[in-house]
Amino acid sequence: MSLHTKTLVLNLSKNVQLVAVSKTKPIEDIIALHQLGQTHFGENYVQELVDKYQALQQYPIHWHFIGHLQSNKVKYVAPFIYLIHSVDSLKLLKEINKQAAKNKRIINCLLQVYIAKEETKFGLDETELNAIMMEFDKGIFPNVSIKGVMGMASFTSNSKQVENEFASLKQIANRHPQLQIISMGMSQDYALAIAQGSNMVRIGSLLFGSRK
Ligand SMILES: *Cc1c(COP(=O)(O)O)cnc(C)c1O
Repeated sequence: MSLHTKTLVLNLSKNVQLVAVSKTKPIEDIIALHQLGQTHFGENYVQELVDKYQALQQYPIHWHFIGHLQSNKVKYVAPFIYLIHSVDSLKLLKEINKQAAKNKRIINCLLQVYIAKEETKFGLDETELNAIMMEFDKGIFPNVSIKGVMGMASFTSNSKQVENEFASLKQIANRHPQLQIISMGMSQDYALAIAQGSNMVRIGSLLFGSRK
């Protein structure tokens, strides 16, 4: 990728948090981007994240978990994770609360919402999100803070469809005042996402080059 593209992405509007998605990429790539001022990095495999966290402990990095998270793996990321983007069940939320308490932390989370037309296994619909928010509002998860939503649009060149999907996520978030973070937009579609109200984008290949 050109330096120009990289510079563009690293200088997004101040209202949009860039999460540099470093999955499959080596430590050296992360350090290089960190030296350009990037401090938020995202990973989607627990083992890879833990390895990178340990290797880079001397760097002040905010680690984001963006992949599917199994309940039995929460304990590995609970000591240090900055934001979990992919909460898609009450069971997972309970486990995050438990592990956060063990680590005397409050863990920030986003609810992953299913907005694409494609068949995928992960993400809540609005009814399920509302149900989780109702449970959460009872105050039974004191070590979790639900900060917003995350969603992925369909992988399609139909930009109108992508726009509509992003707009629907923004609307869902708007109905819950505490859902302030709107994590949507990847290399392919981040500009469309920002136009629809994203304030956190997760960009990998545009920054690090394509993955194998
Ligand atoms: C890999 C990944 C990204 C980044 O994808 P790019 O197309 O490389 O920008 C963003 N979000 C999630 C959930 C991912 O798994």
